[in-house]
Amino acid sequence: MSETVEEIRRRVNSAQKNYQANIQKINNILMAERGFISRTPKDEDVVMLCSGGLDSIVMVDKVISEWNSRVHLLFFKRGARAEKHEEEAFDYFELFYKRKYSEKMGAVKKFDYQIPPKSFKNSFPKEWAQTIGHPLRNSTMQNLAVNYAAALNGKYDLNIKTILSGSVAEDGTEPELGLLSLRTQTLNTCVQMGDWEWQITSPMTDPELVTKPIYKTDLIIYAMNNFIPLDRTRTCFSSDEKADGTCFACKKRLKAFEDAGMKDSLEYRRDD
Ligand SMILES: [Zn+2]
Repeated sequence: MSETVEEIRRRVNSAQKNYQANIQKINNILMAERGFISRTPKDEDVVMLCSGGLDSIVMVDKVISEWNSRVHLLFFKRGARAEKHEEEAFDYFELFYKRKYSEKMGAVKKFDYQIPPKSFKNSFPKEWAQTIGHPLRNSTMQNLAVNYAAALNGKYDLNIKTILSGSVAEDGTEPELGLLSLRTQTLNTCVQMGDWEWQITSPMTDPELVTKPIYKTDLIIYAMNNFIPLDRTRTCFSSDEKADGTCFACKKRLKAFEDAGMKDSLEYRRDD
């Protein structure tokens, strides 16, 4: 029997009650095994998941300019409704950053891989769309990013052990975005790979990497100061050319612009 939207929200909410304590437990395991929880990949190669959205696009600039890392971008053609527009954004910024940072941009991979498989998607309860989304969507991408890093390591004789994902402070304790999910993925990867050097983390929310959590608003201000054209990013979930301005992703984006005291120069459909 499927749960109502309300029941799903209540269940997910109550699953977060030991959130900080659980982070601490995983931190303790990592600390005991390797002497650190996570570490800044300064001057190192990293694989970065990039969706073409505001958060991951600005993350590319921050990681290259602040850590001097060389980033290898991974984009999923995963069958999302807005995929065509996400890919346009990704392509635009691939060029943008190659011009801006040349040798700091490593390999770029667009991966055709349905997440979740279409034949499953049609059978998921419809209530999931407005609550928890697709099961294990992000961790599937993160697992594949580990595979991609391993392939790059083999092909170019590299030693990539860091996967970066664009979670921001607003993501809080969301099951697949919050810090606990990143710590869980890190632990999972280390155990499954038999290698305690791996880390799956976010440069915006990991307290080991930033002194204070970075919000979408901070990224917008950073982008303005660094001439990153945010009107070329794609945030909206809808399949239409123009962003609708009404979906969950658009609302978060617009709120962040408002908090930054700036106007989103993106043209929204509701402006028509
Ligand atoms: Zn939207």
